[in-house]
Amino acid sequence: MDNFIYTSTPSRVIFGQGKVSTLPQEAEALGVSKCLILCTKFQIKEAEMLTKLLGDKAVGIFDNATMHTPISITDEALDLAKSLNADSVVSIGGGSTIGLGKAISFKTKLPHICIPTTYAGSEMTPILGQTVDGKKTTESHPDIKPNVVIYDVDLTMTLPVEMSMTSSVNAIAHAVEALYAPDTNPIIQLLAQDGVRALASALPEIKTNPLSIPARTKAQYGAWLCAICLGSTKMALHHKICHVLGGTFNLPHADTHTAVLPHALAFNAPATPRAMELLAEALPEGKGDAVKGMNILLEKLGMQMDLKRFGMKESDIEIGVQQTLSNAYSNPRKIEEGPIREMIRRCWAGEPAV
Ligand code: NAD
Repeated sequence: MDNFIYTSTPSRVIFGQGKVSTLPQEAEALGVSKCLILCTKFQIKEAEMLTKLLGDKAVGIFDNATMHTPISITDEALDLAKSLNADSVVSIGGGSTIGLGKAISFKTKLPHICIPTTYAGSEMTPILGQTVDGKKTTESHPDIKPNVVIYDVDLTMTLPVEMSMTSSVNAIAHAVEALYAPDTNPIIQLLAQDGVRALASALPEIKTNPLSIPARTKAQYGAWLCAICLGSTKMALHHKICHVLGGTFNLPHADTHTAVLPHALAFNAPATPRAMELLAEALPEGKGDAVKGMNILLEKLGMQMDLKRFGMKESDIEIGVQQTLSNAYSNPRKIEEGPIREMIRRCWAGEPAV
């Protein structure tokens, strides 16, 4: 075994069915009593449920969380927090709502309790992505991580099947890139393998029986492990391409990850034999071949893979290529223009990875 550095970052996680009921105790343990609840327009019911749970510890709901955390929306929420004299934020939802919670908490130092309802994994990372005038910027700081995360499977039951699939592939992508990250280590690799294993076994069951509590619980557990991977290692080509395509052409986050993953994996596989060995163990249907294992899983889930259906144009391919090549970032295989162009073209067209 090679030498390694493993840094664990503090986080408090409550995991289990019905555990959203612990929210008032968690607020009390943090010493807060004026929580502002954050959600999107589509999850107001869930936010109202939290208001009931918190009773007089809830001071209001901000229901305009938006994808890619536009600063103008954060400013609106900050004004509301100030006018209500809020002493904490509670985000309930996916990465968009959690991003808003992180932005407010980082700016104001208010504690942040996070209740994730997708598998995207933002809750476990010290990363904040924001947009100003349509341009996405990211920053990383330990204080960006939420103080407490409550994973309650009941809140994932309403996640539509297709979004459950794409959101899970988004989670799997974190684990894949953690396996070959320059700062990977044996602990993270264990988490990555188990995260992929849990998701790969839960997803086919969720596809046929979306209300299966055991399958949904396993998926949420897998997503949590993959999220730790995302928050602990440097991501590479896959995340770079998704960031570029999603940000530049306003493509939906999880679908973009789903379209790109098999291509980024096939590209990096020749340069990452040990990571592929570990991934193949977590995807046994590939019979020792990680790329094949991933393709079998995606096929089983019946994923639609083309990005053109979200409005990406053929002429956007070249813009994506140039942006992908523009900033330096770590990747196990040398990035060359020709293969990247072909990869992005295939993602756009929905052609299989080669
Ligand atoms: P999302 O948060 O944008 O949610 C998509 C829609 O699904 C929203 O309308 C939401 O209200 C709804 N939804 C969420 N959970 C639901 C449920 N259980 N039932 C029904 N509807 C539900 O989607 P996402 O994929 O979770 O997050 C994407 C965003 O998160 C992107 O902006 C991405 O950049 C960011 N992100 C950031 C990090 C990070 O570490 N900073 C990590 C992952 C994702």
